[in-house]
Amino acid sequence: MPLLDRTARSFLLLEILSGMAITLRYFFKRKATLNYPYEKNAISPRFKGEHALRRYPNGEERCIACKLCEAICPAQAITIEAEPRADGSRRATRYDIDMTKCIYCGLCEEACPVDAIVEGPNFEFATETREELLYDKQKLLDNGDRWEPELAKRLELDAPYR
Ligand code: SF4
Ligand code: SF4
Repeated sequence: MPLLDRTARSFLLLEILSGMAITLRYFFKRKATLNYPYEKNAISPRFKGEHALRRYPNGEERCIACKLCEAICPAQAITIEAEPRADGSRRATRYDIDMTKCIYCGLCEEACPVDAIVEGPNFEFATETREELLYDKQKLLDNGDRWEPELAKRLELDAPYR
């Protein structure tokens, strides 16, 4: 750019004016960003978020400790121990997920024959320590109790495609 032209543009503040014109133009356009966490985007029913263990409506745990989820997990993040109850039913005595290993592939959910382990819509579970991401059975059941309406709705919407 010739020296004269550059000098003229500097004196007339043309770059600033053109920048302000762009700002003004976008000021009235629809916002492309959200004011998170006060505003949130809609998420797909197939979103793979935080894990939860579900119960039947009568409160009984769904998980029958078949260990299919443990076997299929590519990250080997799931640890299950089980033993029969007095009534002969088989239930997990231990169900741990190391969330720091999990890659949120959803295979555990796909493998489960009774829709016990699911990945819900919650993506806000960041922690300050690694230990808090070592989930045990109680934590997973609590997640299930907390999110059950959303989890049931999500499975219902996905059912035609499974
Ligand atoms: S989502 Fe994938 S990696 Fe995470 S626990 Fe389930 S099977 Fe394992
Ligand atoms: S969560 Fe499902 S797949 Fe995993 S052990 Fe329990 S019943 Fe089996």
